[in-house]
Amino acid sequence: MPKHPLISIPLDIPDVRVLQTELTKDGELILTVESTLSSTTCRRCGRIISERHGVDEPRLLRHLPSFSRVVYLRIRPKRFRCPWCEGHPTTTQQLDWYDPNALHTKAYERHLILQLVNSTIADVEAKEDVTYAALLGILDRWIASSVEWEALEPFATLGIDEIALLKGHRDFVAVISAQTERGDLHVLAVLPDRLKASVVAWLLNIPEAIRVHITTVCTDMWEGYITAVEEALPNATIVLDRFHVIRHARDGVDTLRKQEVRRLKKELPTEAADTFKHTLWPFRKRSDALDTADQERLETLLAASPALRQAYVLREQLTRIFDTARSKADGMRRLRLWRRRVEKSALRCFDPFLKLLSSRLDLIANYFISHQTSSFVEGLNNKLKVLKRRCYGLRNVAHLFQRLTLDLEGYRRFSPWRTATYSVVSGKS
Ligand SMILES: [Zn+2]
Repeated sequence: MPKHPLISIPLDIPDVRVLQTELTKDGELILTVESTLSSTTCRRCGRIISERHGVDEPRLLRHLPSFSRVVYLRIRPKRFRCPWCEGHPTTTQQLDWYDPNALHTKAYERHLILQLVNSTIADVEAKEDVTYAALLGILDRWIASSVEWEALEPFATLGIDEIALLKGHRDFVAVISAQTERGDLHVLAVLPDRLKASVVAWLLNIPEAIRVHITTVCTDMWEGYITAVEEALPNATIVLDRFHVIRHARDGVDTLRKQEVRRLKKELPTEAADTFKHTLWPFRKRSDALDTADQERLETLLAASPALRQAYVLREQLTRIFDTARSKADGMRRLRLWRRRVEKSALRCFDPFLKLLSSRLDLIANYFISHQTSSFVEGLNNKLKVLKRRCYGLRNVAHLFQRLTLDLEGYRRFSPWRTATYSVVSGKS
């Protein structure tokens, strides 16, 4: 293999000296390095030993690419002999920039972990030419498969959401998250189902010192979650997540739009019916987010169907209540007024929502105490949806937990552009 003179670049690995650089015929860079540390810890007695005893077999570790070239570090780990232990056993020097059994330096593994954020293993496998199994191993080494309570920042708000693992199947797993006082979102658990008993058991397992500080739990309307929280966290305020609550109203109105468009298309001449094309999004969007063209399309549709106009106006009024009510009392009063308006109309599309309102008005109105506390659940919900599409068929809850953690915390924890408070690569980064 030819030896090329190369410019000197810092390796960013502590206590290492480059002995030789080679460029292989495949264009890969191989740097032969040695540790400048001249001692290690005896594997038997734990004392520092510095009596050299040769070197181990060479190790080839993939490292961060340089100048778009694949880079390997070749090292023959030093061995040391213990003068105190019986039989003078030898110990191979362990260095903190690679794990004894790893195929990559920690710096490169960190790079791979960052590539996995919002991506798939198959995708990173192809981009980096690293095996699927190696990536799974890295994921396991870098991301715990369950929550590490002691590493978590203080939080007072818990969120419970869920994800259906298979399309068309009704097997849900519950996802429990927390929003820290700084506003960061963390996954705490992915439970194998959404049964009340599982949620209660998990909640009671939260370390006491953390559990007593939980003041608010945001959840969707699933009865199992509500009763589980009432049982395990009796002092916490339950807030029904706004996104799920309003969807009950929105879904009914969407169905009415479909029915009305179908009816109008039958009753009106073709040209008139054509004007109702492309009204789905103008109709669904918030009225204050529409441009002029969308407003005109929407107006044509609403003018043709008084019932739909009535439903649309009520839906927008409902959204405004959630946007602007500034206290629980104010919110409840306005929701009751709104309810009376719906009841006076002949509309049936709000029936599921009215039913929810009569059974859960109190929990819905808890949203008005603090709008902020609940909004993070929607952020999590979006992450869940994206992850579900990306990791379709992923059934292992521990792995789901890792992937969600990585999506939510990956940039915060592993990006070299952020202050790396979690860095495990080296003390320098
Ligand atoms: Zn020893």
